[in-house]
Amino acid sequence: MQMHKGDQELVRSQNRALVINLLRLHGPLSRTEISDRTRLAPSALTRLARDLLEEGVVIETGKSDSTGGRPAVLMSLNPEYSRSIGIKVERARILAAAVDITGAIRSRAEVSFLEPPSPPKVISAIVKLVKKLAFDRVLGVGISISGFVDPTTGMDLYSPILGWRKVPLRDPLSEKMALPVWIENDVNALALAERWYGAGRDYNHFICITVGEGIGAGVVIGGEIYRGAFGGAGELGHITINPDGPVCRCQDRGCLEVYASDCFLSAEASRLGFDSIQSLIEAARDGSRDGKEAFARMGRYLGLGAKNLVNLLNPEAIILGGERMDASDLFLDAIENEVRRHAFPSEADRLQIVPTELGTDGFLIGSATLVAADFFRVPAKEAVG
Ligand SMILES: [Zn+2]
Repeated sequence: MQMHKGDQELVRSQNRALVINLLRLHGPLSRTEISDRTRLAPSALTRLARDLLEEGVVIETGKSDSTGGRPAVLMSLNPEYSRSIGIKVERARILAAAVDITGAIRSRAEVSFLEPPSPPKVISAIVKLVKKLAFDRVLGVGISISGFVDPTTGMDLYSPILGWRKVPLRDPLSEKMALPVWIENDVNALALAERWYGAGRDYNHFICITVGEGIGAGVVIGGEIYRGAFGGAGELGHITINPDGPVCRCQDRGCLEVYASDCFLSAEASRLGFDSIQSLIEAARDGSRDGKEAFARMGRYLGLGAKNLVNLLNPEAIILGGERMDASDLFLDAIENEVRRHAFPSEADRLQIVPTELGTDGFLIGSATLVAADFFRVPAKEAVG
């Protein structure tokens, strides 16, 4: 049977995506291993391998251990092939990193502000940072930002920490830099990074919870980020813990964030006579009862929030990240106790509670992965000719 030209091209680009994804996950591999795992005919693989080597996306890296026969040449992704730029927009700082196609950060740049910057300031700062990280082949720029983000329109819908509402980011940036641009909520970007390169590699259903200035959750269901209908899924920090509690920065009362974020820790620090969260951490580590109690309470409330998510979504794992994980020794046990004490036993027994593997770099790697996800996407039938 004669295949149409369009179909041939589709099959070829699907096979290409199959092989580079296999190398991303399991490389380096020999041609025989690739052929076994993909079931590609050796002749088709030979052609494809030649093309990938010529293109430079794949390199030959040494030889496998000889087990009798001739040692096989191993193939892996070429870290020098390209860079994806990952950007994290914070309240008074923008971090940038150039990430290679194996997910490794290769260079960094950052800029700080005295106060939350306006959208035009952020746009021109990002353009400068991307220029600083220049490389022969830049695949695109991924930006993560706290708040409600709509990746399909490229708009930042609402970022309380910056005081932004309905700010178009993707299109103006893409135009200025002549590069494709993606934007995403920061915790979703972290969850994506953990899914691709970190603690989430082995899970299809997990929740990434971040603890820092606020509390966020990136929900991965069936291997994909769950954003909800309007991009607002995962606002764990604003679930109600106590309807009569103190007012939260979102104007509601008794949100989890009031009991378990840096807001809570600064309030506790000043209540107990410490001048900063850092002093509170040090005191707790030195054995201060009040200090330890403050972190135990925070852990308990975080555990309550996590438990509610576990009961609602039945994930395989909770991955904990965010800036305040630097003091996780003071509250991790309390989280675990609370989750396991309350969640249904059949779920609680199998649930894994683990820290992020990528740490705070996960935000930058995740932002760059927005770009890489497009590069590694397996084309669907309607996408080609
Ligand atoms: Zn709130």
